[in-house]
Amino acid sequence: MVVRNTVPVTDAVFRQVYDSPAALPGRHRWLTPDEDVRRIEDLLGMEKHTIGAPLWVSGDRMTCPGCRRRISWLDIVSSALKSVHSPAMVAEVILGEQKYVNTEAPRAIAGLSCFRCGTRIDFLRSFKCHNWAYARPAIMKVIARMERAGGG
Ligand SMILES: [Zn+2]
Repeated sequence: MVVRNTVPVTDAVFRQVYDSPAALPGRHRWLTPDEDVRRIEDLLGMEKHTIGAPLWVSGDRMTCPGCRRRISWLDIVSSALKSVHSPAMVAEVILGEQKYVNTEAPRAIAGLSCFRCGTRIDFLRSFKCHNWAYARPAIMKVIARMERAGGG
């Protein structure tokens, strides 16, 4: 799962990676399309346009082998929410104040599947986001709701 492969990093390190997507591992680097970002907000029960930061993804290919949809943070979030890990923890990792960068391990991020068709995705190498602290009140609401729903 995603959480296992992430490590907290210092501002300086995060800034460096954030500023140079070219440094992301894998053959390709691309941004999560706006319509997928809006779907992520739906999945997490956030108001539209809560997420304003660019959500980078990188990997050795860009599209789902099953349906040819471009893979994005939507697949990471939906896979994380389906996993045995606490949805609240997932939300904190993805949306929280602490900045995370996927460790640039040679292996792909495990446990991902396509949001649309469910095909296993085994070629993503990293994901990263901006500091979303500005959205913290919204995040705390999301986490509280998840915990009430029994996910945590
Ligand atoms: Zn697919």
